[in-house]
Amino acid sequence: MKTLTVSVVTPDGPILEDSFEMVSCKAESGELGILLGHIPLVAPLSISAVRLKRENNIERLAVNGGFMEVRPDKVTILAQSAEKPTDIDIQRAEAAKARAEQRLQSKQDNVDFLRAELALQRAINRLKVAK
Ligand code: ATP
Repeated sequence: MKTLTVSVVTPDGPILEDSFEMVSCKAESGELGILLGHIPLVAPLSISAVRLKRENNIERLAVNGGFMEVRPDKVTILAQSAEKPTDIDIQRAEAAKARAEQRLQSKQDNVDFLRAELALQRAINRLKVAK
């Protein structure tokens, strides 16, 4: 089994470091599938699920933005936040989603719509990964 090391780090500390056969993630330029020996690159990540494949099993992480650095034998993901499905508080994400939706529907001038849209994306991403 050809594997590469995957390390996921956030401001809260390391979230995961382990060996996987393939890392799939959504860069801002599109979907990337990384295998051992990939050419080096740095890419900004979208709010999305990172999928980590090993022995027919796929682990998922909800990642909030950040960057990935790819080297032939290692992928490092530096994200603002990253959660495993078991660490996601579904009620909290549901509440964040409802709050963001309310703000986006509001007609008030003082609503920061971009901020609300990003909060909505984070909440939807967490709910998808948790379920
Ligand atoms: P909220 O409004 O609920 O705080 P948020 O999207 O603004 O959500 P972030 O700023 O992305 O939250 O994250 C702040 C911290 O809280 C990070 O450490 C993140 O991992 C954690 N976090 C946020 N939402 C959840 C959740 N639903 N379950 C578990 N951890 C969460």
